[in-house]
Amino acid sequence: MNHPEYLAFALPAFFLFLWLEYVVVKKKKLKNIYKYESSVSNISIGIAERLLNLFITVSFYNLYVWIYENYSLLDISNAWWIWVVMLLATDFVWYWYHRLGHEVNIFWGAHIVHHQSEEFNFTVAARITTLQAIVRNVFWCILPFIGFHPNLVMTILVVHGVYSFFTHTQILEKQKWLEYIFITPSLHGVHHASDEKYLDKNYGDVFVFWDKLFGTFQKEEEKPRYGLTHPINSYSFLWQHFHYYLELYEAARRKSSIKEKLTIYFGSPAVMDQEIRPIIEKKWMSKNKVNSYHFKYKGYINLQLILSFVAMSILTYYFDQFDNLTKGFFVAFVLITLINIGAQLEQKRWVPYLEHIRFLVFCNFFIIQSHNYFLLILPFLFVFIIEKMFNFSNWYQKSILKII
Ligand SMILES: [Zn+2]
Ligand SMILES: [Zn+2]
Repeated sequence: MNHPEYLAFALPAFFLFLWLEYVVVKKKKLKNIYKYESSVSNISIGIAERLLNLFITVSFYNLYVWIYENYSLLDISNAWWIWVVMLLATDFVWYWYHRLGHEVNIFWGAHIVHHQSEEFNFTVAARITTLQAIVRNVFWCILPFIGFHPNLVMTILVVHGVYSFFTHTQILEKQKWLEYIFITPSLHGVHHASDEKYLDKNYGDVFVFWDKLFGTFQKEEEKPRYGLTHPINSYSFLWQHFHYYLELYEAARRKSSIKEKLTIYFGSPAVMDQEIRPIIEKKWMSKNKVNSYHFKYKGYINLQLILSFVAMSILTYYFDQFDNLTKGFFVAFVLITLINIGAQLEQKRWVPYLEHIRFLVFCNFFIIQSHNYFLLILPFLFVFIIEKMFNFSNWYQKSILKII
């Protein structure tokens, strides 16, 4: 299966809907829908997922083909009604993949990122990590095993992706009759809430009846308070991705037997020791954390976000033409930029060093492409000079980050 280039065109559609939502929010004068830092983090996480997914999608497709050709249980025809059965089957698998994502620590570590946002809008739909995509794809293996053709599986995955995008918004009016059949934005909003009565409810993606069947249905009554019960209070790209795994590692480290350690990784997030979080925060979080953001350089953050998006779109479109060096460059450039954006939102002291690394990656990629290897020394020399002669890092920390 080739990489579908139309994905590169689907990406601008995402921003078109974001813009439409923004226009409606402004027109209706709705409050507390967006927060700048939150939207930037959501989009950053989404860009990283789209970028890294380019590398895993083909592997999973090949895995599905291998399972289908060697182990499929049933010989399922191509009749039109198979699509309906398929949608029901995938939604059922989705329900359990999602529910286990909340009930088993090792899966929750990947899914928690989707729930960190304290705002609820279309940008939250993009807040999915590659790790979560991998977990989801592993769950989908059951479908070719049953006998569904891998092409059908991949197509229906797109349907799920598109549907769940539209359930992340507060601008659509509540439609009571729809809630008898479908998961609506109101019902999915309940799933994103941290209020006691809304916890661990509405795991379905398209249809509502799995939740009703398995006792996890809850309709919206009071307005939900979105986000985690214990918010992470950080917009750091790295921290958002990995804090829960660090917590698990720390919790497991305190146990002596293998059995106890495994109980941590495969146990329930509901019984996680709440003492662990502050300990790892103290160990890993910046000591320079500031509470008020000045955003004098908001334009710089926006520019980096646009650049990352453009780079990710180019890689999507040209994925099959690019060699491994070029692919590696695009991944490194985008990931460093996204980490940089998160670190700037958090005003981390090490941002200027990351600027150097990005500069070196950028220049050296073009030098390697031109085969003029003797020029490789120049970017290093440049960094050395601006540090030694102009004290670049110091100036950056003082003028841009305003932390010293
Ligand atoms: Zn969830
Ligand atoms: Zn969601």
